[in-house]
Amino acid sequence: MEVQLKNTTGKLCVIGDPVGHSKSPLIQNTMLRALGLDYIYLCQHVPRGKTAEWLRCASFCGYAGFNATMPHKEALVSLMDHLDEDAAMYGAVNTVAIREGSYYGYNTDGRGFLASLHQAEIETEGKRVLLLGAGGAAKAVAPKLVQAGKAQRVFVANRTREKAAALCAQDEEGQLTPAGFDRDTLCRLAEQADLVVNCTNLGMDGTNSQFEDLSFLDNLRPEAAVCDVIYSPDETLLLQKARLSGHRTLNGLGMLVWQAIFALEHFTGEKIDGNAMLPLVRQALKNAL
Ligand code: NAP
Repeated sequence: MEVQLKNTTGKLCVIGDPVGHSKSPLIQNTMLRALGLDYIYLCQHVPRGKTAEWLRCASFCGYAGFNATMPHKEALVSLMDHLDEDAAMYGAVNTVAIREGSYYGYNTDGRGFLASLHQAEIETEGKRVLLLGAGGAAKAVAPKLVQAGKAQRVFVANRTREKAAALCAQDEEGQLTPAGFDRDTLCRLAEQADLVVNCTNLGMDGTNSQFEDLSFLDNLRPEAAVCDVIYSPDETLLLQKARLSGHRTLNGLGMLVWQAIFALEHFTGEKIDGNAMLPLVRQALKNAL
């Protein structure tokens, strides 16, 4: 990618530990070039435990903002001058804009997930959802499904039941219901589900972990859709089985790109046409494989 730097070029980056695998620089630089915005987006390794030190450094070096991945998302919460509703609700910040020395923390994951569903024309309103997992991704996705997505009911099934219970306890309307992750529970909940969303690591490249049993998918009604927030590989075994059984499927790439689009809006203050950006970013990611 050809990059032209000026003395006025704004600086952005992603921080993490590790961070070398991040697709954010490619996604953001592709959008910045396409939009003609005078910023450069870098990849910055920040060791665990050094979040506060990095913030001072970013401000001193004139960064306009940054994205955060593991293990900084939670640590950033208490370090922000301003926190948006989603970041406060999830207890995690994935986007920081630095304006006049103040830190504005956002979390764009939940909005990104909803936007990707919307673009794929997968309805959530009035639907029953079986959500797998209760980690960081689930914390962003579950409340958005019942709030902005207006799902009727979301069953949060997790291996560690207490984590599912803690996530659901945050929902005052009682539309989030905790559940176990055993085969019988998943089979029973799949029977009633209009949508299954995998927010666990199971099936993700590099984790060496897989669902022990995917037979719960056999209990889905034909019109049910199956989503995975995982984007690497393109198609997890969960999605493959669902697709071969005739279900509509969606991987996590759309969520990844939409959360980046919303982050760029926070960094630059520009309204971005996400639909125009998506094909460009998808192509750039394909070319980079
Ligand atoms: P996390 O906080 O570590 O949570 C991991 C979840 O997976 C937990 O619910 C955990 O259950 C469950 N899990 C892990 N191993 C399991 C196993 N062997 N059996 C059953 N459950 C298991 O991770 P995260 O941040 O939520 O990320 C989860 C996935 O979402 C990752 O693949 C990540 O790449 C993806 N993600 C994608 C996007 C995107 O933009 N598309 C954004 C964020 C995350 P326990 O609670 O029992 O440990």
